[in-house]
Amino acid sequence: MNINLFSNTVFVGLSFMLSGTIATVKANEAPFAIAIHGGAGAIQQSKMTPSLRTTYEAKLNEAVAKGYQLLSQGKSSQQAVIAAIQILEASPLFNAGKGAVYTFDEEHELDASIMNGKTLNAGAVSGVKTVKSPIALAEKVMEESVHVMLSGEGAELFAKNKGLPLVDNSYFNTEHRYKALLKAKKKLSEKEQELKNFQAAHQSLPTEFKVGTVGAVALDKAGNLTAGTSTGGMTAKRFGRVGDAPIIGAGTYANNNSCAVSATGHGEYFIRYHVAADICARVQYQNIPLAKAADIVINDVLVKAGGSGGVIAIDAQGNITMPFNSEGMYRASMSSNGQSFVGIFHNE
Ligand code: ASP
Repeated sequence: MNINLFSNTVFVGLSFMLSGTIATVKANEAPFAIAIHGGAGAIQQSKMTPSLRTTYEAKLNEAVAKGYQLLSQGKSSQQAVIAAIQILEASPLFNAGKGAVYTFDEEHELDASIMNGKTLNAGAVSGVKTVKSPIALAEKVMEESVHVMLSGEGAELFAKNKGLPLVDNSYFNTEHRYKALLKAKKKLSEKEQELKNFQAAHQSLPTEFKVGTVGAVALDKAGNLTAGTSTGGMTAKRFGRVGDAPIIGAGTYANNNSCAVSATGHGEYFIRYHVAADICARVQYQNIPLAKAADIVINDVLVKAGGSGGVIAIDAQGNITMPFNSEGMYRASMSSNGQSFVGIFHNE
């Protein structure tokens, strides 16, 4: 079970953010809810200190409470998803925006996408280096272009034309990610000598170098679903590698008829298994509960394939599930039915 009744930390954060307005949710009001993740590239449980946990949970609480606050005010799920993701993008704790991992060439290339479950409109960007908030650019692509995905320099020019904040690529630098790159490169060069193939060597990197992303899914009072995802991708990625985060149907999907999903994990598997859309298709065509559909895809289909990671998902009734087959996944949720959760590892 992924959702617990009010954890203390969440309730304190919520009271602070909303001045206790959760108590004012009326019994006959339409349900609304939000779930967020900060990636499945969680630190090993053995290395998680109480103070680190507090730091992560505080940021997750801040993001989920902001999204929930907007939903409670009657704002759209799209606004809630964007607001929550932007808080996580601005934090150096997560692999998205500030804090994104480094490419092999010691830069940052960011991917993001968003999908609106009512209109089935979607926007995505890949390989952008100077856009401060990739999720904001994905939203612009969705709302103000006739395309679904823009990449690289063209996407950056579009961002400039739309007046979005641009930054030097070094804005995304953080010391801990640089150290991770150096560690990854050392492992890669050892493996490359042995395997004589960069791709095979990269494949053999431990999971901690492959995962980390942020995302949000939400249901608003009008009954509309939205999903969004933003990431720096994989440490030491090369050759313009693009993961699942900006691929609609793989890392992000939303449809009011079924569900909204944001994924995190080893992107190549999430693309090949079309993870986000597969979960929603199972809900829609097999008429099975969201939690069951997500569990099958993450803990059966992907495990058998060797793909590590997880998803957050919400359906049109506001049911939330957050399964993962990795050691941990930073995640939080808040719902108008009074349920909320924040956690990192299994059995929390
Ligand atoms: N899915 C992302 C990618 O492959 C990374 C992650 O979510 O952990 O780029």
